[in-house]
Amino acid sequence: MQVYRLPVLENNYIFVLHDPARNIAAVVDPAEAEPVLQQLQALGAELVTIFNTHHHRDHVGGNRQLLERFPNIPVYAGAEDQGRIPGQQVFLREGDQVEFADRTGEVFFVPGHTYAHIAYYFPPAAGEEIGDLFCGDTLFAGGCGRLFEGTPAQMLSSLSKLRNLPDSTKIWCAHEYTLTNLEFALTVDGNNDDLQNRFQEVKEARSRLEATIPSVLGVEKRTNPFLRWDEPALQAAVKSSHPEETFGRLRGMRDRF
Ligand code: ZN
Ligand code: FE
Repeated sequence: MQVYRLPVLENNYIFVLHDPARNIAAVVDPAEAEPVLQQLQALGAELVTIFNTHHHRDHVGGNRQLLERFPNIPVYAGAEDQGRIPGQQVFLREGDQVEFADRTGEVFFVPGHTYAHIAYYFPPAAGEEIGDLFCGDTLFAGGCGRLFEGTPAQMLSSLSKLRNLPDSTKIWCAHEYTLTNLEFALTVDGNNDDLQNRFQEVKEARSRLEATIPSVLGVEKRTNPFLRWDEPALQAAVKSSHPEETFGRLRGMRDRF
């Protein structure tokens, strides 16, 4: 399975998954249809599945147009999102499995950004060591999604599930927010050497207009404040010793940053 990252809108990424052996493709969160159709044409591949993580327009905006072109393909999204995802046919819950190419993905229910948000985790292919996580607007490189429909406790529980995946996991999140996220992270975790180094790397990458996605979970665990609610340095920064309170205060500070 090859993953193609398509930059669209202001700062979104669409991911096209390609199986060259079968000439088929799937798409994760098609904000727009046109760039997906162009990628399919370049690959000479048929679209067979749409995977959505949540109902926001910048993740499902291309569903209808893709379905006009490929009328019989299933649209996967969270069960709780029923009625909010254009063309949804498959209603996924925690622990459900999805198939693409030679990979079987696991569904995580990760409410917080929205109440219905799901993530797709594809464990490493046979003989490989790196898995792929498509997490929409839940975990970002250096940050996490805003809490539009969920509580800090829900988001913490959702991110806990993702934090338990192997450190080598590639994080395919849906937005290029990394530089701002790390600028914020430095305000609450400034003595973290890994974070300082990452900030410099990301700053240079962005000055060359390079994408910072996919990220790697091990790096996130060392540098992303929203995976570090149990670190004394972060708890001290927000004057709390409770994980949920620490997380909630960090998210509130990020909202005002
Ligand atoms: Zn969103
Ligand atoms: Fe989004």
